[in-house]
Amino acid sequence: MITREELRQLAQLESPENSAVTFYFQPQTPQNKSHREEQIQVKDLVREALHRAEKNGNKPSLRADLKRLLDLVGQLHGNHARGKGVFACSAQGVWREIDLPKVLKKTQLYVAHRFHLRPLAAVAASAPRGCVVLIDRERARLFDLWMDEVREQAEIVDPLPRTGRSSGPGGYDAGHVERHVENKAMRHFKNVAQRLQELQSAGCDNFVVGCREDVWPQFEPHLHTYVKQKLLGRFSIDPAVAAADQVRDQAQRIFEERNASERQALVREVVGGAQRNGRGKVGLRGVLEALEQGEVQTLLFGEAFYAPGSQCANCGHLDANLVEVCPACGKSTRELEDVTDAILRRALDANIAVVYIGPDAEFEKAGKIGALLRFRADQAKPGKIAG
Ligand SMILES: [Zn+2]
Repeated sequence: MITREELRQLAQLESPENSAVTFYFQPQTPQNKSHREEQIQVKDLVREALHRAEKNGNKPSLRADLKRLLDLVGQLHGNHARGKGVFACSAQGVWREIDLPKVLKKTQLYVAHRFHLRPLAAVAASAPRGCVVLIDRERARLFDLWMDEVREQAEIVDPLPRTGRSSGPGGYDAGHVERHVENKAMRHFKNVAQRLQELQSAGCDNFVVGCREDVWPQFEPHLHTYVKQKLLGRFSIDPAVAAADQVRDQAQRIFEERNASERQALVREVVGGAQRNGRGKVGLRGVLEALEQGEVQTLLFGEAFYAPGSQCANCGHLDANLVEVCPACGKSTRELEDVTDAILRRALDANIAVVYIGPDAEFEKAGKIGALLRFRADQAKPGKIAG
């Protein structure tokens, strides 16, 4: 698991001696390759990096990190269910392992002066995250959904009184018993709704409900407005017998549907906004300009976006051109093979939302990178007319 804050901290790390190690492990499907073969290949990747580090000499911390990584790779054998990210720079006391869903393109290893965060940022930006609640009339099961995992976190049980023999003559009349049961069930729904509201206040942004069809109209009226606003959807299930992987599959499906339609709407807003000089900018130049002007509310980056550029070592100015001298401050710049990591870092630092756009023809045509703007600096100046 990774929080935005952790991502930001990893993004900030800078290793002057170029010894920040980034490793992404993507398990292969067995039909492509045998596990043994795969492990040999991954080990070779790490060994090569280790040899290079040894040849270059005087980086004991880097060699130690790569040796530790080699050990770890040895243990990955036989545990191919999940991907993994490792971020290591022991010179600065960092060793971070993160389990990832199997969505990366391939296993990758980088040794550089910063971590390579783009794949991790893409996963984090599009990962399902939220709370799934399964509910019936006397019991609720709460699950955490994160990436491709669900974990059962809590259970709320408000047992209903058993009707039947005890409601015979001499006891309460049948109507009374029924009302009693209904009241109990209603209190249970209220309890659960209350718990969801607490989770919402604590920062949970997405809810998915699983229940039988007849239970939903009884439960829904008790949900707090804020929780309703964060409700992504609902699926039909019997909570008493639901298995965790059923819950995960259903919740992920709902999450992904919602995510896809939100992303589509965002792309339309940004591309349309860019065309009308409104709240959108597309293409690398436009996005870099918007970032420097502090206009960006949400950064959109696409799977296929890749562009070289340069960055000023002094003021941090990012340029889409390979310029040797910074146009902003006149100091010398550094060439970047791909500016994406630097852009992501800028966004994380400035608390800008980052949205990862999967395959999307409209977005790709527009340059595979874009930004939704809070405002346009050129229109904020008095007397200037848009367009
Ligand atoms: Zn500069």
